[in-house]
Amino acid sequence: MGYDCVVCAKQVPDTKNITGQAMKDDGTVNRAALPAVFNPEDLHALETALDIRDRFGGTVTVITMGLPKACQVLRDALYRGADRAILITDRRAAGSDTLATSYILSTAIRKLAPDIVLCGRQAIDGDTAQTGPQIAEKLDFTLISYLEELQALEDQTIRVKRNVGNGWEVVEARLPVLLTVMNTANTPRPSGAKRIMRFKKAKAPAEVAGEVAAQMPQAGKPEQAAETKNRCDALAAKGLLIDQWDLSTIEADLAWCGLAGSPTKVHRIQAIVLAGGQYRQFQPTDESVGELVGELIRDHTIG
Ligand SMILES: Cc1cc2nc3c(=O)[nH]c(=O)nc-3n(C[C@H](O)[C@H](O)[C@H](O)COP(=O)(O)OP(=O)(O)OC[C@H]3O[C@@H](n4cnc5c(N)ncnc54)[C@H](O)[C@@H]3O)c2cc1C
Repeated sequence: MGYDCVVCAKQVPDTKNITGQAMKDDGTVNRAALPAVFNPEDLHALETALDIRDRFGGTVTVITMGLPKACQVLRDALYRGADRAILITDRRAAGSDTLATSYILSTAIRKLAPDIVLCGRQAIDGDTAQTGPQIAEKLDFTLISYLEELQALEDQTIRVKRNVGNGWEVVEARLPVLLTVMNTANTPRPSGAKRIMRFKKAKAPAEVAGEVAAQMPQAGKPEQAAETKNRCDALAAKGLLIDQWDLSTIEADLAWCGLAGSPTKVHRIQAIVLAGGQYRQFQPTDESVGELVGELIRDHTIG
């Protein structure tokens, strides 16, 4: 029988590999200066899902919400063993905060009716760690965050070890569940050479349309659309057309999407670069810790 898993994977700027000015003058992230990568903890979520499928049977579907170039993470997931990949892309989703992102992702996931949804614990760009728990709430799935180890999966019940910061907790829950996975949970498997050869030409329709527009700039829109359809049909015949859903496909309420569905207002983004000497060390003694806490209360960091 097996378990159907959906993995949420986000394409993020590689904050460890900055090739230019990371922040623009207006304080927003300069995405063009940062190579795009698979969000690191999402690779561990994918590995957990692949392990579940390999041990207990079932399927692994990977979904990402983003621009067409986010298909790169979907191809990467196919190279590593995912069964299906879905791109959720729509201009009307632009400006989505975590509330709108989790609404859109949960609406798409509901269509897939999985037993287990897996997210990374946190994305390295937005960094909120809110999206997974918000998806669980919207789907009414049990949330198990900070997964370190999958211990058992039997009779629609899962048992996992979760990290609680200063120790571990073993919890059991009935499916369906949403798991957020830590980077200490496993070692993601590498891409398989045969799967790279098989899926390297897999594309979503939006990527094909972009390619056609670049190659046939003089052609009119109807001609470009016809060529896009021909190329998509050819890819579909070979099992290489990546599914693409928009907000209409998933029947999303537009009031909950994009800027309209995003109550978060970003007041200011600030790049903080610590120079040598701008930190202080405190000894692990009661007196020193008391001094640190006193200072943090006085400058209103805590309290
Ligand atoms: C006002 C506002 C406007 C914004 N506008 C934009 C915008 O126009 N374009 C833009 O790219 N971002 C935008 N963002 C950022 C965007 O809201 C967040 O990146 C997104 O909601 C995910 O939050 P996070 O990065 O904190 O992820 P976290 O909550 O830290 O992510 C946890 C996990 O959730 C899953 N996940 C998160 N996002 C996705 C995704 N997109 N697809 C699949 N899985 C996912 C992954 O498994 C990830 O590991 C905006 C944010 C705000 C506050």
